[in-house]
Amino acid sequence: MLTFEQAIRETTARLQDAGSASAGLDASLLLMLATGKDRLHLYTHPYTELTPTEFACFEGYVSRREKGEPIAYITGEREFWGLSFAVKPGVLIPRPDSETLVATLIALVGDKNAEAKIAEIGVGSGALIISILKEFPHFIGYGVDSEPTPVVVTQQNAQKHGVENRLTVMQGSWCGPLPDGLNVIISNPPYIRRGEISTLMRDVRNYEPHTALDGGDDGLDAYRSLIPAAYGKLIAGGLLLLEIGHDQKGDVEALLEKDKWQSVHAFQDLAGHVRVLGAVRA
Ligand code: GLN
Repeated sequence: MLTFEQAIRETTARLQDAGSASAGLDASLLLMLATGKDRLHLYTHPYTELTPTEFACFEGYVSRREKGEPIAYITGEREFWGLSFAVKPGVLIPRPDSETLVATLIALVGDKNAEAKIAEIGVGSGALIISILKEFPHFIGYGVDSEPTPVVVTQQNAQKHGVENRLTVMQGSWCGPLPDGLNVIISNPPYIRRGEISTLMRDVRNYEPHTALDGGDDGLDAYRSLIPAAYGKLIAGGLLLLEIGHDQKGDVEALLEKDKWQSVHAFQDLAGHVRVLGAVRA
């Protein structure tokens, strides 16, 4: 039978051949999943052999990864803002870039004991709104998604992180189901130009929900609907925080009409791209 060391070495080579950019990490994550052992155990017990059941599981996971399925859908989880979120096909896998939005909100609000009503449009796994509710124990949250799977997964994740009593998740379009009088609205809407979807990495293109990626011909469709809808639900002085594509600052700023939105600010991600736009409702 295969040892842990052989399993990692041979699988790394196999996944590299299949085009994975993170083959070594993938191999050890899948072996952790198949054996229930942590990474330290795998590397300190290189000559332990997989049991036949572990081997069968491992082989199943590796062949899925080989076809391009994202690791997070195979393991069923992804870390975001130091928390583990359940994910599955039908919800976008949270990206590290999106942590910029959480960090921006913390910097802008300042006081962790602040009270506010906050809503997220397009919740996906719930990673953004749940991370924020964990940071601000007196915030009350609302989440909307147009698809059923994100609503269910966000509710599961809210329970997992103990914020289910402060988060209402609803299926609907844009701000439709939200109450009035919100203090903050956040969104990471679909913003990829339709013509560029085919150029995305195979794993993303073939497995992640296009409803969470496809922003229409110029990538701005979601912002065109979302910005006026958010205006109607925010109080005067309320904050809108939007994740945007790395080259969309000017285009999205142009959609924030001067008489309706003030103090428009751009915030960068760790790679130095403008990733978040903040605007205050007049
Ligand atoms: N940043 C994501 C990606 O590159 C896109 C997310 C989105 O459209 N909101 O895949």
